[in-house]
Amino acid sequence: MDTVVSGIRSTGNLHLGNYFGALRNFISMQHENRCFFFIADYHSLTTHPDPASLHGNVRNVLTEYLGAGLDPEVSSIYIQSDVPEVTELYLLLNMHAYIGELQRTASFKDKIRKHNDNVNAGLLTYPVLMAADILMHRADCVPVGKDQEQHLEMTRKYARRFNTIYGVDFFPECQAYRFNGEPIKVPGLDGNGKMGKSEGNGIYLVDSDADIRKKVMKALTDGGPTEPNMPMCEGVKNLFTMLSIVSDKEVYDHFLASYNDCTIRYGDLKKQLAEDIIKVVAPIRERIADIQSDDDYLRRVVRLGAEKARESAAATVKEVRRIMGFKPF
Ligand code: AMP
Repeated sequence: MDTVVSGIRSTGNLHLGNYFGALRNFISMQHENRCFFFIADYHSLTTHPDPASLHGNVRNVLTEYLGAGLDPEVSSIYIQSDVPEVTELYLLLNMHAYIGELQRTASFKDKIRKHNDNVNAGLLTYPVLMAADILMHRADCVPVGKDQEQHLEMTRKYARRFNTIYGVDFFPECQAYRFNGEPIKVPGLDGNGKMGKSEGNGIYLVDSDADIRKKVMKALTDGGPTEPNMPMCEGVKNLFTMLSIVSDKEVYDHFLASYNDCTIRYGDLKKQLAEDIIKVVAPIRERIADIQSDDDYLRRVVRLGAEKARESAAATVKEVRRIMGFKPF
């Protein structure tokens, strides 16, 4: 039985990238493993420090986790800031994280381009907090999308470094978990390579059927192939990637063949794609609506999750302190 950890920042509603990149993978393995799934509210502060929306965003992500199928009885679903041990481990790991390697992280470079007015230390040390989230439970396995591979590599580096410096074999080197073995990157349908909250191009788990149809119909394409087997432009490639994620293989093969023999009508492809996305989203959206106003239930889930997560985290931090030489008087 592996220990599995994953989390999603609470900076808004969950989109299909979060669902297919992280959440679905996690749901598929929760019954066979020791699973922790958290809502990364500390992480959200690096880009969204807004007291007025913090709690509401956490609540949304919580109901969306549950609506998508995370089971609080078998997994530990918790809010990052309910587990103070993570901040201690973050501080301790920071002592062995070097400024140069943090500055070279692709996500940091990307964030300073986008948030030039707020390049804070939290943004720089984001991979260390992420490593603390994972190492806190001594996880073997982390379901993440392709965009997180570098962060995971850094987590492995911090685990190895800790073990080497202190001459122990304490932290395991966690592996990425991918549904079907393939790293997945859900594209944006606006010609953007990645669907993301900050990219503003998401199809959300709470979107109505009408919203989904509208977003898909607006997806960027070109004038259509003019010769057989033509290379696809970025927008069309993204539509096909999305189709490969949500639709049956026969549907994908049918549209690919019609692209290759130049008979494709993008309108038909988009209609089919929208309906296949709705098949995934609609039942989740209905479950979200059912639990959204059930305060007692949400409170119980969060309390239970925090208890289970703190038990695991406290054991790790206690051992880390001992290894590092902290001793009681
Ligand atoms: P974030 O929304 O950036 O906090 O990401 C939370 C999780 O969703 C991480 O595991 C990401 O790898 C995954 N994720 C976010 N966007 C995408 C995407 N477009 N494709 C695949 N996975 C994604």
